[in-house]
Amino acid sequence: MSHQPYSFFQSVEKSFDKAAKFTKFDPGILEQIKACNSVYQMRFPVKRDDGSIEVIEAYRVQHSQHKSPCKGGIRFSDEVNQDEVMALASLMTYKCAIVNVPFGGGKGGIKINPRNYSEYELEKITRRYTAELVKKNFIGPGIDVPAPDYGTGPREMAWIVDTYASLKPGEIDAAGCVTGKPVTQGGVRGRTEATGLGVFFGIREVCNMADVMKERGLEVGIKNKTVVVQGLGNVGYHSAKFFREAGAKVIGLAEYEGAIFNAEGLNEEDVFQHRKKTGSILNFPGATNLVKNTDALELECDILIPAALENVINGENAPRVKAKIIGEAANGPCTPEADEIFMQKNILCVPDMYLNAGGVTVSYFEWLKNLSHVRYGRMEKRFTENLNTHILNQIEGLTGKQVDEIERKFIMHGPEEQDLVHSGLEETMITATREIMDIWKNNPSIPDMRTAAYVNAINKVATSYAELGIFP
Ligand code: NAD
Repeated sequence: MSHQPYSFFQSVEKSFDKAAKFTKFDPGILEQIKACNSVYQMRFPVKRDDGSIEVIEAYRVQHSQHKSPCKGGIRFSDEVNQDEVMALASLMTYKCAIVNVPFGGGKGGIKINPRNYSEYELEKITRRYTAELVKKNFIGPGIDVPAPDYGTGPREMAWIVDTYASLKPGEIDAAGCVTGKPVTQGGVRGRTEATGLGVFFGIREVCNMADVMKERGLEVGIKNKTVVVQGLGNVGYHSAKFFREAGAKVIGLAEYEGAIFNAEGLNEEDVFQHRKKTGSILNFPGATNLVKNTDALELECDILIPAALENVINGENAPRVKAKIIGEAANGPCTPEADEIFMQKNILCVPDMYLNAGGVTVSYFEWLKNLSHVRYGRMEKRFTENLNTHILNQIEGLTGKQVDEIERKFIMHGPEEQDLVHSGLEETMITATREIMDIWKNNPSIPDMRTAAYVNAINKVATSYAELGIFP
């Protein structure tokens, strides 16, 4: 954006530099980490449905190959430009490092508004883009693995894998060239809810830290915490669902047409159905309408989850935010000015870079599934069930008592694919939260959790580069 003093990529570099001061790596290594290793800018023609020919501008950036393959989504948007794709690719490097997903960062973009194209045109553009990537060796299960991002979804990923596989006959791991595929095309179960569930796991871990809660006058745990969620899309809906199921009260929900409040708690599915039926979140039975949708951000609550857009909490409204914890489910919802104010007000802002990493984490599981050519759970589900039955029978025989039906079902259950994906995500988010908090605690001069997350990323990537050695 022209009115900002820095480009998006420069602002990522600035955050990096701020955190790099808390590390002790060779300046050359730090320079290498910041740089985008490969930038592929392309142009290709596509014949529109009306017979005219349009030249399409597109990109793929590989920010870092300290781990292979590179990983990152493909965005279809009018706003796509090289600086943006470079910035997003570098954020992917740091995000993957924080959640211990062994990939380098990448990102792709096609400068189109998908609403202005027919499905057939979109398919042609996506397939041609994939073919261009294949030609330059910019895609492949061991090279660079795209995923959905703004404006793309499972449909586009299915086109990509089909194009790739047809250009690489006999490549047995072809399905691993892209993630976020439909389950029938090699996708993994549990991907849809992954980001919202990851947000929940990350915040739950923070709420289980006694010292962190005490500093903010909060009780340990999620139960009875009041939560406000902005955006009832994929991420917001699932975040709200998992908080409610864990015993929190979702007292406020905001959508772009307005916001609603109910101190007794709202059910996200009921609100979603109400919105589908009436076309608006407002006038939900039992809830109060708020005058402006942004009023929800200023409600008295324990946890605020912005899950809609960037820059919604800024220097103007941050002084009025009353939440004790902010969980950045969206990308970039809080500005650097807001961060300063949170620090003064002792508000804990849990940063987007790792909190919304559930999607890429589950993408990693999808890629592993593709390389192993077997569905998660297929090998061990029956074995586990047989073993559990045996153990239960022994316990019942020895004690002469029987467990009730609900418990029996729970104990006997062998893991399905979705159970294993959820449990892998839970482990990932808990570990990442603890690593970042430990860095912060061990260095009290680090100003906030965002900087601590960057320090964690730099430590890992720099160590990896240092141990690789520099090729002569
Ligand atoms: P989505 O399009 O499914 O949902 C966004 C919702 O926000 C929509 O329902 C929209 O109506 C609502 N909204 C728009 N403007 C609003 C406003 N001013 N106030 C309140 N609500 C508003 O998108 P999503 O996939 O849920 O993504 C949301 C955010 O999370 C984005 O920043 C995205 O980059 C980020 N994110 C998503 C994923 C993922 O896996 N989907 C992963 C990482 C980060």
